[in-house]
Amino acid sequence: MQHYDYIVVGGGSAGCTITCRLVEAGKRVLLLEDGPPDNSPFIHMPATFIKVIGSERSVIYHSEPQASAAGRRMHVPQGRTLGGGSSINAMVYIRGTAADYDDWAAQGCTGWGWEQVLPAFKKAENHMRLSGPYHGTEGPLRVSDTRYRHPLSLAFVKAAQECGLPYNDDFNGPVQQGSGFFHTTTFNGQRGSTAATYLAAVRQRDNLQVRTGCYVEKLLWQGRRAVGVAWRTADGQHHQAHAGAEVILCAGALSTPKILLLSGVGPAAQLREQGIEVLHDAPEVGQNYQDHLEVSVYGRCREPISLLGQERGFKALRNGLQWQLLRSGLLTSNVVESGGFACTDGGSRPDIQFHVLPVLVGDVEREPLPGHGISINPCLLRPKSRGSVSLASADVRAPLRFVSGALSHEDDVAGLLRGVKLARRILRAASLQQVISEELLPSPATQASDALLIEHIRSHAKTVYHPVGTCRMGSDAAAVVNPRLQVNGVEGLRICDASIMPSIISGNTNAPVIMIAERCADFILQA
Ligand SMILES: Cc1cc2nc3c(=O)[nH]c(=O)nc-3n(C[C@H](O)[C@H](O)[C@H](O)COP(=O)(O)OP(=O)(O)OC[C@H]3O[C@@H](n4cnc5c(N)ncnc54)[C@H](O)[C@@H]3O)c2cc1C
Repeated sequence: MQHYDYIVVGGGSAGCTITCRLVEAGKRVLLLEDGPPDNSPFIHMPATFIKVIGSERSVIYHSEPQASAAGRRMHVPQGRTLGGGSSINAMVYIRGTAADYDDWAAQGCTGWGWEQVLPAFKKAENHMRLSGPYHGTEGPLRVSDTRYRHPLSLAFVKAAQECGLPYNDDFNGPVQQGSGFFHTTTFNGQRGSTAATYLAAVRQRDNLQVRTGCYVEKLLWQGRRAVGVAWRTADGQHHQAHAGAEVILCAGALSTPKILLLSGVGPAAQLREQGIEVLHDAPEVGQNYQDHLEVSVYGRCREPISLLGQERGFKALRNGLQWQLLRSGLLTSNVVESGGFACTDGGSRPDIQFHVLPVLVGDVEREPLPGHGISINPCLLRPKSRGSVSLASADVRAPLRFVSGALSHEDDVAGLLRGVKLARRILRAASLQQVISEELLPSPATQASDALLIEHIRSHAKTVYHPVGTCRMGSDAAAVVNPRLQVNGVEGLRICDASIMPSIISGNTNAPVIMIAERCADFILQA
């Protein structure tokens, strides 16, 4: 049995962040990560992250067939390497809005309002050109403009302005609404994951042990206190380590609840059904699952210019060399270069985010459409649908039973309908019409009626890869963690990842998860 102060389970966005802060403070930390190291070149070249999805450095969770999504399964990839999601994501740096966090506070997350979380966002951030009340310049997390902007992205930004979405240079400033280019978690033309930033800063310290290829199966208890973890390595060997202070679960919204359930913390009836001894009856573990969904609107472009169509033969070699030698050119693109936020529900708080890709993008379920084009993806920001994860078996390697709940709330379908209609208007605006020859999907036939478009939405909506909420934070007894992220009903255990969000924020989730980890480190170190 090895002994540490803290054991961090999962070396993802949150895991690398909190590890860094604890190690800097002189604590002895063991970081255990299931996946391999982040040493694939496709992680570090921003434009090639799509190649990592489906590789051994990702894991794809498949939901049960969802009746409200035309009987389809939702396929949710997650990072499985150092850096986790921050090593395979699209690098879009978005925090959400002040109202999101004020909503958290109103839901019982005392101390998590905007005024309290903004300092943690700033502490994390090292922005290349913005400072002042909204931005940090000295944190580990490098935030930059990308070095490459594709003509189709530029055309989208202009077309969106022609449809009433004003140019916005900073979606993380006082106003979220508008269209423009995303700031990205990149630096010097390469990905700035939490492994490449936070973890890299402390990797050589003697008080840190980082182990990859370690799948944590269970927590070890002494009475009701978590005192360590048990894991298995790829060769089938079992190992254990002891945490003198705390165990911190950072395995993400689809894995953290599984570890809790297998360790006897969860809905008592579910645990007994699987023959697991109940340590603490926590009915909400695995409940409250939320994710962002989007529906692609595709247009074919007049010239063969889309971003990823250029990566073969001589052009691929040239792009590769340019990146290797100069860290410039097309491979520095994060692909999702441009986008925007729109209010389509009559309110003043954006309810739709556009992710725009200068390529006809596919997904886990579908091959991309052939040829060249643009994908304008409207995403509903505050979905009301809820899902859950639960144990299908007590076998640690068995997949969870995953009900995503996609589109089970009618308001979500109505929201996406408004988003798709606005995306189509933008596709037809003058600046995009100069480069787009035809609309591909949804098919022009769906113009005829909302019913046809809704059918399309139910059969094509896909995840934006933002699962959250399965270990809800709150002040009530049913919450899985309290506002200091301690697991209710037991001792020595915190959760620090996307699973603690009581409700999904209005935007991409990586920066908010890093903020959560910064705050968790503060709670621990200031205690
Ligand atoms: C393809 C993709 C694109 C995305 N694009 C963006 C984007 O552009 N911008 C943005 O803000 N957000 C984006 N996101 C979302 C964002 O990256 C995630 O919300 C964030 O990374 C979640 O952080 P986390 O710490 O909760 O979990 P993760 O970063 O997923 O970390 C969990 C880690 O725990 C490990 N783990 C799991 N189970 C175990 C176990 N039993 N034992 C040991 N280790 C374990 C995993 O391997 C993983 O490394 C994207 C996500 C994906 C997958």
